[in-house]
Amino acid sequence: MNITITKTTTPKAKPVMENLPFGKFFSDHMFVMDYTEGKGWHDPRIVPYGPLQLDPSAMVFHYAQEIFEGLKAYKSKDGQVRLFRPRKNFERLNLSAERLAIPELDVDFCVEALKQLVDLDRDWIPEQEGASLYIRPFIIATDEFLGVRPSSTYKFIIICSPSGLYYPEGLDPVKIYVEDTYVRTVRGATGFTKTGGNYASSIKAQVIAHERGYSQVLWLDGVERKYIEEVGAMNIFFKINGEVVTPMLNGSILGGITRMSTIELAKKWGIPVSERKISIQEVYEAYENGTLEECFGTGTAAIISPVGELRWGDKVMNVNNNQIGEVTQRIFDTITGIQNGTLEDEMDWVITID
Ligand SMILES: *Cc1c(COP(=O)(O)O)cnc(C)c1O
Repeated sequence: MNITITKTTTPKAKPVMENLPFGKFFSDHMFVMDYTEGKGWHDPRIVPYGPLQLDPSAMVFHYAQEIFEGLKAYKSKDGQVRLFRPRKNFERLNLSAERLAIPELDVDFCVEALKQLVDLDRDWIPEQEGASLYIRPFIIATDEFLGVRPSSTYKFIIICSPSGLYYPEGLDPVKIYVEDTYVRTVRGATGFTKTGGNYASSIKAQVIAHERGYSQVLWLDGVERKYIEEVGAMNIFFKINGEVVTPMLNGSILGGITRMSTIELAKKWGIPVSERKISIQEVYEAYENGTLEECFGTGTAAIISPVGELRWGDKVMNVNNNQIGEVTQRIFDTITGIQNGTLEDEMDWVITID
């Protein structure tokens, strides 16, 4: 399929690249492709960024048949554009598509479309340390119909947002609220997919956590509220007595690409890693007996986010005296170094656009 390109005739003024907010500004172009039953995906095109025209009855507004991805492009010191493991994002988009009864995409084609879009908007990639072009691919159901069934038409769109750090405080440890009332999802539902509905059901707990002075919620399993699942938009890791532990992918947890990269690096370095069930009680006991050494979240937006405090009911756990742990720092330095090109890409994770 040939991608047609229509360039904007009215390029936007670029935002001030110092201290960019996250996800607020958007580049000049977007990629769009349509799906029609019987015809498949068709008409791939790069067009000026702008509003969509959708019928108010478009199914996505009513039944949330929608999936998305998130990844980043970086510009190295010598101007090379670098994408971090983009194939993994489109493979995961297909995993989400399968669960949401959305037609799948060709991964190689998506990577090609993304490269063309980012190449065209390469001047929008910030070069400041920690900043990047955040990329949001998504698919929405567009049938004009009120009734529950899979849509027969969809739009696949990719938009790009020059963004600064996700947490303005940078690599400072964050405070996390362990949520024991609300649940995000359960096994058998859509927890392992990136779909807006998972987030819609999480917002209320997030608001309450914010009011109490915490930046994110740590979700427990939806059945017993006992086992640790993940944080807002991050997977969670603990270092307990020398071992790195993260909840195993059980169907309700999102399989993060930063999570996968963290596990691969720890294994390469010979640090013991285990993916298993871990209860909040076990973490609390480790804290009490002094073996809870580190805790950090992993996700594309923040990359690595050290956790300095966990609150579970009336119990407060101060992790590593609110300092960034050694493994946390090493994972952060290595992943960001590979992303921005200051470290050699030994893992073969980066796709460059020259
Ligand atoms: C996107 C996301 C993550 C992190 O995945 P990455 O691929 O590392 O960005 C973790 N949890 C949830 C719920 C997510 O949506």
